[in-house]
Amino acid sequence: MKTDTPPQGRRLRGLGVSPGIAIGPAHLVESGSIHAPEYTVPPEGVEAEVARFNEATAKARRQIKKLKSKALVLPGSASEEVGFLLDAHLAMMTNSRLTRGVERRIKEEGLNAEAAVQAEITAIAETFAGMDDAYLAARMTDVREVGRRLMRNLMQHEYQGFGMLPEGSVILAEELTPADTALIDPRRVLGFASVLGGAEGHTAIMARSLGLPAVLGVPGLLTNVRNGATVIVDGVEGVVHIDPPPELLESYRSRQAEREREREKLKGLRRLPSVTRDGTTVSLQANLELPRDLDHALENGAQGIGLLRTEFLFMNRQDLPDEDEQYHVLRAIVQGMDGRPVTARTMDVGGEKLAGWMAGRYGEPANPALSLRAVRLGLREPKLLEVQLAAMLRAGAHGPLRILLPMICSVSEVVRVREIMGQVARRLRRRNVRIADPLPPLGVMIEVPGAALSADALAHAADFFSIGTNDLTQYTLAIDRADDQVAALYDPLHPAVLRLIQFTVEAALRSRIPVAVCGEIAGDPRYAALLLGLGVRDLSMAPPSIPIVKRRIRNLDLVEASRRARVIMDQSDSGRIATLLDDFNALS
Ligand code: PEP
Ligand code: MG
Repeated sequence: MKTDTPPQGRRLRGLGVSPGIAIGPAHLVESGSIHAPEYTVPPEGVEAEVARFNEATAKARRQIKKLKSKALVLPGSASEEVGFLLDAHLAMMTNSRLTRGVERRIKEEGLNAEAAVQAEITAIAETFAGMDDAYLAARMTDVREVGRRLMRNLMQHEYQGFGMLPEGSVILAEELTPADTALIDPRRVLGFASVLGGAEGHTAIMARSLGLPAVLGVPGLLTNVRNGATVIVDGVEGVVHIDPPPELLESYRSRQAEREREREKLKGLRRLPSVTRDGTTVSLQANLELPRDLDHALENGAQGIGLLRTEFLFMNRQDLPDEDEQYHVLRAIVQGMDGRPVTARTMDVGGEKLAGWMAGRYGEPANPALSLRAVRLGLREPKLLEVQLAAMLRAGAHGPLRILLPMICSVSEVVRVREIMGQVARRLRRRNVRIADPLPPLGVMIEVPGAALSADALAHAADFFSIGTNDLTQYTLAIDRADDQVAALYDPLHPAVLRLIQFTVEAALRSRIPVAVCGEIAGDPRYAALLLGLGVRDLSMAPPSIPIVKRRIRNLDLVEASRRARVIMDQSDSGRIATLLDDFNALS
């Protein structure tokens, strides 16, 4: 017999991607109602509207297939049950009454795709309602769920409802894209967990940057959970508890209080310099995704913004930010940093960081991470780059600003961007617009193995390097950084990755250009000794990591660290490297 008693004490494992413990009522993003826009499509637009609907169904099929592979690891019957359910959803996306009906409504009634989906779901529900059958009633829930998925795909910006969440919620979702995560208000949300997602994708990075506990890649997360159920998201252990028993809740509350005390202690480091025991100064800067994180950076004692990911200005909207809008955002950050340097990266859209205006514009690449993204997109659409460079040059008149180019592969790309920057500067000067004088340093991200191996040549073309170990690891080891299925293979300590870092640092030192590390390893105290030992003196990281890394650096002897780095660089096995590093960290 069915009861309303919540299932007691479910414990689910995933990837702990952002440390901390969140306890609160669950907010299931799947259950939100979606308000569909309704309008008439003119006859000449019908074909494109059908194509838009087909794109949404194709995306839904891909999403469901991903969920299916995730469900395989669920225990026994649960795996089978979820598998059947997803098969049914998949069938509904392929030449079904639903898809045929929607297409017909677009073609014959001139309805927009969202309204056509809504109308078809209502019609199917009416047919089902006439049949008094429990099995069919359950199928109706599936039809509605499929309809919601299609709507979300059609409307691109997926979970707009985040702003309305009750304070203290914990979000449980199937998947949160980086754009969704950018909508999360950390004053209302305590943490989140999702079925899909890897440890080094931008959703994970955003969680760390917001200081929100998060666990991603949790199979079965949304099965048997009610809205409002008490959940614990343990971002340290990578565990989610649903309806935990009182004693477990109690022990988590005391762990939470312990972490809070630890955080308070770390605050004391804010004003202390980041200097090793033997007197070498290391610059600790912040990675910033959204302008609102600026306070966070300052509170944690950032000595600058080492990486401003401007692509977030392009997300959750259908239009493009113009020069003035970008300039105002950048200027506020430069002024907010009050004389400390800001390194603004030109937009790295593409890959998993999708901007609304890109949707469908360049087709659907089979390998988005290898496709038209970042500087490649800027060079394909120079107007985009020119607008952004103009905004940066203008913001650079208000304080020290450097310009950083993502996904650089070859010298010719840097040369081309420098030419464009020169043209933009001349145009602005002709119009008497105030810009940085001299022009800002132009640096490159070293995040593609080919760029690392060309570091000598790039060091002549660029004014500084910033090593992006997230992508460098992804591309060197051929591991999708956002895919939980291969997350266990993602390893920045792989000797190949370390050699590329070493090669880059040495090339920069030889050419006397600054070199920083801004990938996620910069914010993990475990790696500090190795990076410093390899010659890095500039680290940029999520703001909450700054005090933790500073504490590590203040305990570190650089001579010893360099010696250990040399031993590590002679190794061929990453397991051995990890042991050598952990042993060193345990002793000093
Ligand atoms: C990197 O790839 O390491 C990096 C810092 O850039 P992003 O994480 O934005 O790709
Ligand atoms: Mg990158």
